[in-house]
Amino acid sequence: MSVFLNPEFDNHEKVLFCHDTSVGLHAIIAIHNTNLGPAAGGCRMFPYDTFNDALTDVLRLSKGMSYKNAIAGLPLGGGKCVIIADPNEPNKSKLLQAFSKHVQDLHGKYWTAIDVGVGPKDADILAEHCDYVFARSSEYPEGFNPSQFTALGGFYGIRATVKHIFGKDDLQDITVAIQGLGATGRELSRLLFQAGAKLMVSDINQAALKFVVDQYDAVAIDSGKIYSVEADIFAPCAMGAIINDQTISKFRFKAICGLANNQLASPKHGEILADNGIIYVPDFLVNSGGMIGAGSRIFSNPTVEESKQSVLKLYDIIFNVLEKSANDQQPTALVVDKMAQEIIFKNI
Ligand code: NAD
Repeated sequence: MSVFLNPEFDNHEKVLFCHDTSVGLHAIIAIHNTNLGPAAGGCRMFPYDTFNDALTDVLRLSKGMSYKNAIAGLPLGGGKCVIIADPNEPNKSKLLQAFSKHVQDLHGKYWTAIDVGVGPKDADILAEHCDYVFARSSEYPEGFNPSQFTALGGFYGIRATVKHIFGKDDLQDITVAIQGLGATGRELSRLLFQAGAKLMVSDINQAALKFVVDQYDAVAIDSGKIYSVEADIFAPCAMGAIINDQTISKFRFKAICGLANNQLASPKHGEILADNGIIYVPDFLVNSGGMIGAGSRIFSNPTVEESKQSVLKLYDIIFNVLEKSANDQQPTALVVDKMAQEIIFKNI
C-alpha cells in the first residue's frame, strides 16, 4: 500500500525505508514535523506481522511525538523509527549498528532513543556509529534508567487525575489496573505502591508479573481480563491501540491514564470514552516525562535531579487539561490536540 494512502499518514515530512541485506535489517524512520526543532523520538524493535503494520505504527508514533514534544514545551519536532525484528534475536546488536548508520545519514534531522524492545544499553550500541542518540545508559553512569522519568510523569499524571476526580492530593486506597510491567510499568507500580494505591497488574511475561506482585503487593490479573476489572484508574503500559471496539465496552474505570503510546485505536474511541463518562488522559501527554527528562540532553546538560524536577510540571499541565475538558465539555484528546497544533503551527 502507498505510504501516502495509509490512514495514519498526516503530512509527514519524510518517511525513510532502511534496508541492509548483510544483517537482514528492515526498518522505517518517520519524521512527522520539524517546525519546533529536530525530530526526536524512540526506536522500537518489534516483530510486526506485516510490513504495513510497521508502517502504520511508525506513522502514528511519529505524529504522537510531534504533539508530545510541543505540549511538553520542548524545542523538538516529532519522529520515530521501527526495526522489524524480535528484540530477543541473537543478532540484535548488528541490527542496531546497521540501523544507526541510517540515522547518522540524516545529520541530526532526527534524534533516536529507547522504546519497546530497545533499552538504554541498546541506545549505547546505536551511538557507536551515530551522534544523534539520547537516553543512553552511558549518559547515566550512576545507573539511572531514563524510563524512570516516563514513569515519574505517569505517577504525577495519575495524581493530577485523582485530584480532578476526587479532589484529593493523596492516593490512599485508589485502585489502579496496570497493563504491562516492563521498564515503565514496573517503576510506575513502585511509585503507586509507595503512595498507598492498590494495584491490579497484568503482563504476558510471567517473570515481570511475579516481580511486581511480590514486591508491590499487587493482585495478578490474566492479561485478557485486565480490561474488565473494577478500578479507579486504568494505566496501559504495554502496546498501543488497546482502547478499541473489542475492549471499550468492558471498561468500568473512572479514568485511563497510562504510559503506552497510541492507546486509542482511532479518535472515535476517545469520543466514546467521553460519552461513557470515562476520563481519558491523552497518552502522549502522560508519557512525555521521558522526553522532558531525557530529551533535554539534546540541547542542555541537566543533572538527573534537575531533570526529575522538570518532569513534575506534568501535574499542572494534566490537571489544567482535565479541568478545561470538563468546563468546555470537550473530550480531552480534542483539547490536547488543539493545544499541540496551536504550538506547532503558530508561526505558519
Ligand atoms: P517494555 O518493553 O520495557 O515493557 C513492556 C511490557 O509490556 C513487557 O513487560 C511486555 O511483556 C508487556 N506486554 C506486552 N504485551 C502485553 C499484553 N498484551 N498484556 C500485558 N503485558 C504486555 O516497554 P516500556 O519501555 O515499559 O514501554 C511501555 C509503553 O510505554 C510502550 O507503548 C512505549 O512506547 C511507551 N513509552 C515508553 C517510554 C519509556 O521511557 N520507556 C516513553 C514513552 C512511551
